[in-house]
Amino acid sequence: MMIIDIRKLNAQKKYTGSMEFEYSAPETFIEIPLVKFASPVKVVFDYELFEDDSLEIRGTVSYRLEGQCSRCLKEAHEEVVGELNAYFENRNDYEDYGYTNGIIDLKRAVEDAIMASMPYTLSCGEDCEGLSYSDETDE
Ligand SMILES: [Zn+2]
Repeated sequence: MMIIDIRKLNAQKKYTGSMEFEYSAPETFIEIPLVKFASPVKVVFDYELFEDDSLEIRGTVSYRLEGQCSRCLKEAHEEVVGELNAYFENRNDYEDYGYTNGIIDLKRAVEDAIMASMPYTLSCGEDCEGLSYSDETDE
């Protein structure tokens, strides 16, 4: 659970700070065939809590993908780092990330950041030669 308790932060006067979570993202986030998460997604960010109880977070989601190279099918892996920037407003009709009852659930913002950073292919490296029968002009 990736929860921020705004009431607690206010009570402790922790208006700025940093946090980190791990999130076991669903494999369905990956659109590359035969590729999976090598570990949970690491979520790291700084936050700022404003007087109106809105909260801004700035950080990253990072994860490692492993599986078959999309071109040559050899074992491959890639470290992915995506930006996590989100703004939460203390009302539930806010178009981006609203919240109520003093509790922010980061899940949707984190999932959006993972989706936005997800590559479409996995490559074994710069010198990948592709499959032997693949066309030279094939990208
Ligand atoms: Zn390859």
